[in-house]
Amino acid sequence: MPRVGILAVQGGVREHEELLIGLGAEVTHIRATSDLAGPDGPRVDALVLPGGESSTIDRLLRIFELADPLRAVIAAGLPTLGTCAGLILLARRILDPAPGQQSLGVLDVDVRRNAFGAQVDSAEVDLDTKLGRTHVAFIRAPEVVRVGEGVEVLARWAGAVVAVRQGPIMGLAFHPELTGETAFHRALLSAAACDAAELDPGASRARRAPRAGSADLTISR
Ligand code: GLN
Repeated sequence: MPRVGILAVQGGVREHEELLIGLGAEVTHIRATSDLAGPDGPRVDALVLPGGESSTIDRLLRIFELADPLRAVIAAGLPTLGTCAGLILLARRILDPAPGQQSLGVLDVDVRRNAFGAQVDSAEVDLDTKLGRTHVAFIRAPEVVRVGEGVEVLARWAGAVVAVRQGPIMGLAFHPELTGETAFHRALLSAAACDAAELDPGASRARRAPRAGSADLTISR
């Protein structure tokens, strides 16, 4: 069972936690460097950076000296899902940052905060994505305004790029956790399971062997 760390310094932690527990994951809160990594490397198999206020989260990350360790584990390949403010934190560049606001710069995209005007400030929508049709919520969402070469666009909304993936890092401008949408969290757990299998060839064989009655073994665990 993958162990998922949710960054819990500010923002919407609980909905991610409930959704992940419902999918069978073990969840832990990340508030200090020691929650994230020990002498043997990361203490979690995957990470979630939740929504909230990205400038506040950024400030707290630097006060708690968590920004550098987070950047290091994500850059080293820890499967990571960032939603809304979490996407802003992951981005290479923020086009309209709050004064002094920084990002981790591990996802090769540029984002504009609060990109959708007052009319669509918040909305719950059906969204077609590369992971299938989903139902998600936008709340003062950012827009991805530049997509780097190795970055796959997973979804667009109102003409804007709103979901991206670069290897094991996924960034979403919206909130799947508020509508109970599980597609993105299942993809995260699947990436975490693949990582674990690479370290343990036996687990990899077991996972890939066809099993009667299970259509999609990687996603269903
Ligand atoms: N607008 C917020 C920010 O700049 C993000 C909103 C959200 O996470 N729902 O951080």
